[in-house]
Amino acid sequence: MTVTLFTELDLHESLLDALRDKGYERPTAIQAEAIPPAMEGRDVLGSAPTGTGKTAAYLLPVLQHLLDFPRKKSGPPRVLIVTPTRELAMQVAEQAKELAAHTHLDIATITGGVAYMNHAVVFSDNQDIVVATTGRLLQYIKEENFDCRAVETLILDEADRMLDMGFAQDVEQIAAETRWRKQTLLFSATLEGNAVKDFSERLLNDPVEIDATPSRRERKKIVQWYYRADDLAHKTALLCHLLKQTDVTKTIVFVRKRERVHELVGWLREAGINSCYLEGEMVQAKRNEAIKRMNDGRMNVLVATDVAARGLDIDDVSHVINYDLPTTADVYLHRIGRTARAGRKGSAISLVESHDHLLLGKISRYLNEPLKPRVIDTLRPETRAPSAKVTGKPSKKVLAKRKEKKEEKLDKDKPKVKVRLRDKKNIGKRRTGKTAAVATSAAPPSGKGDD
Ligand code: AMP
Repeated sequence: MTVTLFTELDLHESLLDALRDKGYERPTAIQAEAIPPAMEGRDVLGSAPTGTGKTAAYLLPVLQHLLDFPRKKSGPPRVLIVTPTRELAMQVAEQAKELAAHTHLDIATITGGVAYMNHAVVFSDNQDIVVATTGRLLQYIKEENFDCRAVETLILDEADRMLDMGFAQDVEQIAAETRWRKQTLLFSATLEGNAVKDFSERLLNDPVEIDATPSRRERKKIVQWYYRADDLAHKTALLCHLLKQTDVTKTIVFVRKRERVHELVGWLREAGINSCYLEGEMVQAKRNEAIKRMNDGRMNVLVATDVAARGLDIDDVSHVINYDLPTTADVYLHRIGRTARAGRKGSAISLVESHDHLLLGKISRYLNEPLKPRVIDTLRPETRAPSAKVTGKPSKKVLAKRKEKKEEKLDKDKPKVKVRLRDKKNIGKRRTGKTAAVATSAAPPSGKGDD
């Protein structure tokens, strides 16, 4: 049975109220698939990039469990959620607090970037759910400041990123420290590659596997195109023009390097466009402030690097603009996934200089659909589009040759019918319809007649 409404999910009234407050009506695909088995206590291995609703997919079952089995007296955390970045930890905790708003449950975070003593509250008070990043959590565990023995459910969010960032050992250690747990939920943007598979085989027990990678059709909700630019100044002019359009209501502008973040914020300011930014070296309070300004609508342009924007969840992003094209198609997909979240529409625009065309070809091939160029009349490029040789796009002649080769190969691959000598013998004159009919009627009616 496919679940189409949250009310079909056997959730506590207080959680349904919170869902109503948040305006969630229907579960997303990952929620519909992951919530029932997770509520039965099964381990879950979920393939779900951000934007699919994976956070609520694991939060709702654990909140329900905490409500179903309330503890008699306060104690250490019963649910531990581990994330690769501080931002993600804070966003998860924020969602957990919103979903638990009508309950008595307590949620805390343990992350780096916060004064060590500020976490004292985590240990002195009752906590039900703790959301943590690996480094600081392990530090507390080692100093015996964090008690893992009460953890019943361990959740690993964005496991692939944790592995990419070199946290595999840390996570394994956390899993060993929480060995008394009854359930493990692991979510990863992809389950491809041996690393995540190996990891999940060691940590999970007979998990239900769920794949909520957005389908091609869902991805189509993101309209994608590009503009050709002559140089940096041209790219900036294109960006300013785009940011001034009325339908461009909330935008994340991606750049490749930290230095470019600051330059670009300055150039935009000169053009009368205010923006906030995120880059890796920023202090936590400033990062939080930038995200908050975007979320509450005080600011509608955010300039960010990929590293700084990891795990970021900003509501209602109408446009993602690649001021610098990313170096891999994978990162491109990750960037554009910031828009068109939870079923809404979005646009992804790339600004492309001639040296980016090879990359553009690579991205198009990965997406399995060519990105289409557009032109702004007042900002047409003066340089010519690079030739097919540069873009890696095959010319018509090459395509025709490829087709011919393919057909030849098909012919070759056809099963060969053996022509026997006896079949060739006495073929004689080809029969016409009439002679054939005569011949048939002249022949004995069946094998039996031969006897
Ligand atoms: P996530 O994949 O957990 O990062 O969620 C992506 C976005 O979708 C977040 O902004 C959520 O608030 C939103 N969201 C999650 N579940 C739902 C739902 N069932 N209906 C509408 N929006 C949702």
